[in-house]
Amino acid sequence: MYEILIVGAGPSGASAAIFAAKAGKKVLVIDNDKGVTKRAWVENHYGVSEISGPDLVQQGKKQAEKFGAEFVQGTVESIKGGDSGFVVKTDQALYEAKHIILATGFMADLAAEAGVTTKEGTEPRVKTIIDTDEAGKTNVRGIWAAGTVAGVSVHTIVTAGDGAKVAINVISELNGERYVDHDVLKG
Ligand SMILES: Cc1cc2nc3c(=O)[nH]c(=O)nc-3n(C[C@H](O)[C@H](O)[C@H](O)COP(=O)(O)OP(=O)(O)OC[C@H]3O[C@@H](n4cnc5c(N)ncnc54)[C@H](O)[C@@H]3O)c2cc1C
Repeated sequence: MYEILIVGAGPSGASAAIFAAKAGKKVLVIDNDKGVTKRAWVENHYGVSEISGPDLVQQGKKQAEKFGAEFVQGTVESIKGGDSGFVVKTDQALYEAKHIILATGFMADLAAEAGVTTKEGTEPRVKTIIDTDEAGKTNVRGIWAAGTVAGVSVHTIVTAGDGAKVAINVISELNGERYVDHDVLKG
């Protein structure tokens, strides 16, 4: 059973995976390579003068893998379950997880299928988003949402930050206390 299963490996999902795996959680990320970021050229991401979207996504995946996150390719078709955990079905396999983070970008169909409440989006070209509270929780206990699909501004720095925020909230809930990840300058 994974502690945290993330659907979507764009800036939001991969950033969530970095924090969750670095916190020592057992993390799986499932992605079907249909994100918008692969068409982007980015010059407004703090700390990075310029980078292509595909390179940013690749770097995020590598960083999360370094901390032990697992990645698989596939389309998540359904999420079933509740308080004792969820069964996540892809077009190829079944996975079990305690918490789910939906980071599916412009795609909210999976959320609706899983019984997660959606609503009209407010950002340009974002038709439907998941209804979350400030922490990223949805109406289904254990299912969280982050990034574009959670209605934040559609920029890599913002979606990545939102993924990190939601992961920190999930980690804190699993740990039973607020989580902070601060490495100290070496030497
Ligand atoms: C042409 C273009 C140019 C851009 N330029 C900039 C820019 O200059 N600066 C900037 O800040 N932002 C830019 N952006 C926006 C930026 O790409 C997005 O803000 C951000 O990457 C969205 O991140 P995300 O993680 O929310 O979604 P995404 O990057 O879309 O990731 C969502 C992931 O979820 C996966 N997924 C969805 N449903 C499923 C499912 N059922 N099963 C498995 N996987 C699933 C998708 O395959 C995808 O990989 C640009 C976007 C475009 C399209």
